[in-house]
Formats: sequence, C-alpha cells, structure tokens
Amino acid sequence: MDIRLTKIICTLGPASGTGEHIAALADAGMNIARINVSHGTRREHTALLETIRIVNAERNVPVATMLDTRGAEIRTGDVQTPLQIRKGDTVLFAPHAQVAHGDERIVTVNYDGFAGDVRETDRILLDNGELSFDILEIRDDGAVQARARESGTIGSRRHINLPGADIDLPSVTENDWDDIGFATEQGVDFVALSFIRSAEEVEAVRAFLAKRKSSMRIITKVETAQAIEQLQSIVDASDGVMVARGDLGAEVPFERLPALQSEIVVRCSNAGKPVIVATHMLESMKEHPMPTRAEVTDVAHAASESADATMLSGETATGKHPVTALEAMHRILLATERHGARFTRTQSIPLRDDPYDARAQATVQLAHDTDATAILVFTRTGRTAMQISRFRPNVPVIACTHDAAVQRSLALFFGVFALHTLFGEPEETVQSGMRLLQNAGFGESGDRIIVVSDIPKHYADWSIQQRSVA
Ligand code: PEP
Repeated sequence: MDIRLTKIICTLGPASGTGEHIAALADAGMNIARINVSHGTRREHTALLETIRIVNAERNVPVATMLDTRGAEIRTGDVQTPLQIRKGDTVLFAPHAQVAHGDERIVTVNYDGFAGDVRETDRILLDNGELSFDILEIRDDGAVQARARESGTIGSRRHINLPGADIDLPSVTENDWDDIGFATEQGVDFVALSFIRSAEEVEAVRAFLAKRKSSMRIITKVETAQAIEQLQSIVDASDGVMVARGDLGAEVPFERLPALQSEIVVRCSNAGKPVIVATHMLESMKEHPMPTRAEVTDVAHAASESADATMLSGETATGKHPVTALEAMHRILLATERHGARFTRTQSIPLRDDPYDARAQATVQLAHDTDATAILVFTRTGRTAMQISRFRPNVPVIACTHDAAVQRSLALFFGVFALHTLFGEPEETVQSGMRLLQNAGFGESGDRIIVVSDIPKHYADWSIQQRSVA
C-alpha cells in the first residue's frame, strides 16, 4: 500500500479552479484545498468552495478547505502597464499618485502610514525579495524615495515587505473579519491568519468564532519577526501553525529560515499542534515539469523533520503543471517516509502529564512492534486521532467519526485519514469500522489492525485491541 502520511495542501487559483482540475488534484492526493483571498473575488471563492463540496460528495476521505486571509499586508496599486525598473533607478513609493513631482516614477501603495513604517527598516522588498530598494529619503508628504538594487518589473498589487518594521495596522483588518465571517458561513475547515504578531490576536479570532458557534480551526502563519519573538504563546493559542517561509524569509534574514523552521516544527510537535511547511517548495515547477534537486531535498527535509503537512502555492494556483507538481511532492514524501519508517520516533516525543498521551504512545509502539497495517480509532471530537498522530506512527491512523466537520479537520494531521460512520452498539461499531477501513483501501484480508476506542460506554474507559481484517 502506497499511503503517504505527510499531508499536502494545494493552493487553488486560475490553473486549478475548475471541477475537473479540483477532482484531478483530489485524485492525485490533495488533502486540503487552500484559497488565498489575497487573489480573486468573493464570487470566485464561493464558486471554488461549492466545487469542492461537489467533488467531495464522491469521496470516502473528503478534501478539507482552508481560507487564507490577507492580514496587514502592504501592496502596490493597480497599473495599466507594468513598470520596468533598472538597477540604480530611483522611484517614489507613495500612497497617492498626486505627490509626483516632475517626471518621477511613482509606485503607489495601498497604505497611508507607509512612510512612518519605512522609518523602522532600511529596505523595501517586493514579492518576498524579488526586487529590493534602498531608502534614499522619507518625505513629509508621505512619499518615500528609493533606489532599485536590481532590475525587474512592478505590475499591479505586488506584495511589499518592510523587514523588521512593526506595521502600524491591526494584524486582523476589517477585510479579514469580513473574510473570516464569510468562511464561517461557508463551513470552511481552517482559517490561516496572515501577519499575526501576538497570541492575543489569535484569541480575538477565537472569540469571534465562538460567538458564531463555528468549529473552524485557526492556523497561524508565522511570518513576522514579532511572531518569532512570541512563538510559544502563539503555538499555544493556535490550533495549528504554518511556517510561511515566503514572508518570513523577507521579514527576517533568510539564512535564519532553516533553524526557525526546525524550531517551529519541534515546538508544534511538543505541543501536539499540527504544523505546515509552506512556500517555494517546488517553485521551479511553476514553469518546468521536473523539480530541481534542491527542491526535492527541501520537501524531503520537511518530511524528515516530521511536519504534518507541506504546501504548494503558485505551483498549483498559477503554474503550468499543477497535477505534476502535486505528484512530485507525493513521490518525494512517500519515498522519504519509507526510508524513515525503518526507524521509530515514538520514543523521542515527550510525554505530557496526560494519561491519553501514554495510551497514544503505547498504540503507536504496538503498531510498530507488531507490524500492523493500520491503527483504527473511534473518536467523537478527533482528539484520540490527534494524540496518536503526535507520536508519528509509521502506518495510517483511520479515524471513524460521526461528525463531518471533525472528519475534515483531521485532514491536516500527520497520518490521519478520517471516515464517516455512525456509532452504535460497541461490537457492531468496531466491525463496521473494520469494513469501512477495508472498503476505503486501508487494509486487506488478514492484515493486523490496532483498534483504539473510547466511544462505547461498555468499555471500562478505553481499550486497545488487535484485530484482523476479515
Ligand atoms: C508565505 O508568505 O509563505 C505564505 C504562505 O503566505 P502568502 O502565500 O499569503 O504570501
């Protein structure tokens, strides 16, 4: 059985927005579809979510959905014709076009406080550093004169980073509250919060979701210097974390990225929170059908570090080879897991002061030591499956749950595949779970399955059993 345990998130966009595209990505192993609302319209996002629901109707294990907010991002304005910049050119970044003097070349920005925040940095970066500018003068009229360090093109709505500056905007903007509200109405499974700087901001979103009785899970994107300083409290406040390497690599010196990625993955693993490694993983595949060898190694590294998920952005949203890129990521992850499966990491994950941790660890160890094919879990809230996932089993965890939202939320967890079932009399429930597992292709006749359950009241508290597929 070729079951990949590390999950893959695919960003949808013009290259992957139709029902056919989404079905092809789902067939090729997309676990979560991400919609980045920095691009596209509300109408397009609504249509994408509807298409995913239609694709899911045919699937045992549904594709979950993630809506990624804009956050306090600074962008350039719309232009008719992209501006060609040569190294050494001076340009004026200005919130309003009318501050132009003479023949100065203007790049408009969407934010009045730009000049104030520029004081806290020494460079202006475009598109995560594709183009960079030295700051020459900050003018009283709110414009900033800067000199290009490289040649390039500035089109509409390019993303601007001011490394190290504490942007004077709320991290969760009015647009974001509106987008989060939209996501709750649409039953989106995960909201990814951009440019978060503190745990309080995450708590504010949690309070907003609670008011709306939404079970949407909060994924915090770590992509600012401030978030790095507040890392532990942000991990604790979130349901999961994304290492958003695009912006993070522009906001802090990029050479720090590998160490920061490892630190974030370990902190999440210790806290039992799922972690996503994102951005530029197979970037060259936006153009080419084959990844570079460095990209192959980067994806493998994320799997070796035991990230729960890796993410494709432009590769699937706008690239020329969306399905090929996903297939490449799948192959790399699978090969890396196969190699790693010869070792067990179960013992190196610290036990917390929680008897359920001991049960999860014992389950994973038992599956490993008895060469089981899968772990079958019965769970109402998803908690049992999440705890087992934390110990990084080398076989899939099949989670049977009666709750469709819980089912989709488990899509992010390493190794967990959730199936929808109804709970009844204990023995019948276990037998029907075994049948579901077999029908969904997670076990064959004679395979050994470790069964964990705390659902049936008749079991004293919980139980771990070994069963064979019929
Ligand atoms: C990132 O910056 O790495 C990221 C995932 O965010 P976005 O794609 O919104 O820029």
